[in-house]
Amino acid sequence: MRLLKIFLFFAISLFLITGSAKYFLSQRKLESINIGPGVTQVKKLSDYFPGLLNTPGDTDVFILEGKEQGGCVLILGGTHPNEPAGYVTAKIIVENFLVEKGKIIAIPRANLSGFTHTQPLEATPEKVLFTWNNKKMIITIGARLTNPVHQWPDSRLYRTITSQQIVSGSEQRNLNRTYPGDPDGTITEKVAYAIMQIIYSEKPDISIDLHEAAPEYTTVNAIVAHDRALDIAVEAAMMLEIDGIDISVERSPRDFHGLSHREWGDHTDTLAFLLEVANPSQGRLRGKTDENLVLTGIDKYYLRAAKAGRLNVPYDENGLPLTLRVQRHLKTILTIIDVFNTYNPNRYIGVTNTVESSF
Ligand SMILES: [Zn+2]
Repeated sequence: MRLLKIFLFFAISLFLITGSAKYFLSQRKLESINIGPGVTQVKKLSDYFPGLLNTPGDTDVFILEGKEQGGCVLILGGTHPNEPAGYVTAKIIVENFLVEKGKIIAIPRANLSGFTHTQPLEATPEKVLFTWNNKKMIITIGARLTNPVHQWPDSRLYRTITSQQIVSGSEQRNLNRTYPGDPDGTITEKVAYAIMQIIYSEKPDISIDLHEAAPEYTTVNAIVAHDRALDIAVEAAMMLEIDGIDISVERSPRDFHGLSHREWGDHTDTLAFLLEVANPSQGRLRGKTDENLVLTGIDKYYLRAAKAGRLNVPYDENGLPLTLRVQRHLKTILTIIDVFNTYNPNRYIGVTNTVESSF
């Protein structure tokens, strides 16, 4: 009888563990990114740095090349996989944009490992169902940092590669602190190194890193630009303001190293930008965190904070929907390209956005 009880206990436990493990793994399975009509080549990061081959950092690199020669723009989404607007914007570009002149290189899941987990205690929904241009897409939400299963343990502190600056240890799993990367370093440093190799070999004129931030964060609804890219950022911001899109420009801090816009701009000739939109589902003031909050950005505590003048972006009962955040990113990218084209006719980048982009 005792043996039977033990057997039953283990059998039931095994059944429950298998069931929950299956569910867990199914939730972390990544949705496909469709190859749009403009895509001319799909590469991997390991094509630029073989050290990433067969590692969890080896993400897809989509190339959209026009028939006519022109300039080149590099677009990164998913540097922080808990910021869906960046990933979704890059995915929409891959699936819908056409390039007549020049080239787009898009990496929707820059930190692929970060898409394989969510951050403990953040209650992030693992999947959300997003509708764009009447099409439904399932989106995986990940974590800000590389999965500790792929990079562990963290040292207590992390010294950024190009300076003596010391940051918190967990930041060594933050792709946006590990540039210009290290071919012999951690998986995050190797991904950063591979992205630098893309910039060295493909020589993009413009490089844009797409992000989201909490509405109470100081750098939000903003273009952060490397010193050499400031003129274009300011003119693009003026154009966007004329179109009714409120956006600020910030100079990339000179003494804050490891960041994409700082290191891309310091080590290569590319014009480096980082774009931030406001996402209440990653803010500290939020209440219930669920799919609805990610999609609509409607939150009663953010409304109270807005009424108390504590936010850095306009906020009302309509929230800050993911659709709006993606539209802001798309419009800002296209405006930066437009301004660049005005001053660089020899490196003209001719892009058609085949999806609705009204703002
Ligand atoms: Zn970010």
